[in-house]
Amino acid sequence: MNIRLAATALLALGVGAAHAQQTGKPEDTEVWEPVPKVVTPGKTVGDAPNDAIVLFDGKNLDQWTSTDDHSVAAPWPVSGGMFTVKKGTGNIETKRSFTNYQLHLEWRVPANISGTGQARGNSGLFLASLGKGDLGYELQMLDSYNNKTYVNGMAGSIYKQLIPLANPTRKPGEWQVYDIVWTAPTFAAGGAMATPARVTVLLNGVLVQNNVTLKGPTQYIGPPSYQAHGAAPIKLQAHGDKSEPLSFRNIWIRELSADK
Ligand code: MG
Repeated sequence: MNIRLAATALLALGVGAAHAQQTGKPEDTEVWEPVPKVVTPGKTVGDAPNDAIVLFDGKNLDQWTSTDDHSVAAPWPVSGGMFTVKKGTGNIETKRSFTNYQLHLEWRVPANISGTGQARGNSGLFLASLGKGDLGYELQMLDSYNNKTYVNGMAGSIYKQLIPLANPTRKPGEWQVYDIVWTAPTFAAGGAMATPARVTVLLNGVLVQNNVTLKGPTQYIGPPSYQAHGAAPIKLQAHGDKSEPLSFRNIWIRELSADK
């Protein structure tokens, strides 16, 4: 009898190794604590659950400020339940800082978009803003419905680092939905990176980044590298395309503890 046949015979007799370890009662492996907290979900998927911090509910930008001057209110106009990038005013970011979180955000490239490549509906969601301008970790927003560009710069990419797993973007003029789980990097007392940032991203319900590891904050030129930081705002980019700018709606966040 060869080895394969012998193994098959043993399995048929029910004397495999896995079986041999199954002693005790079913209750021995039941866990009853800690009991997960009760969260009341939104009316539909995409609506904020009751433990979320609503960052934009269609009415005002009270939760936001100018990235380059925190004494200035976010200068982007709110209208019709959405807000829109205002050219020449720079980026905006949340007044609050966050570490690990689940984030929901909806964005729309205008239907009459013009331009090509990176100059076509470009914005960005900085998962942690590390200062003025574009400092931070950028999840790209761009018209990628029918617009060729470098693939680590298309919608769903971690800009210049990670190509999305798929391209589920909708046409310009239609709303796109990001659902994100961000795990912030951690740093040792001396400032060296201890654990890198990780992120999971769904775009329009399709997985585009699967718990990927970031090499550091976004670098436009050259390789990224980590520098120690703590909790950080979430930032939206005013890229300065010549065509009409992007709009946003329904933004909410759930803070997560370090080990969840
Ligand atoms: Mg961008």
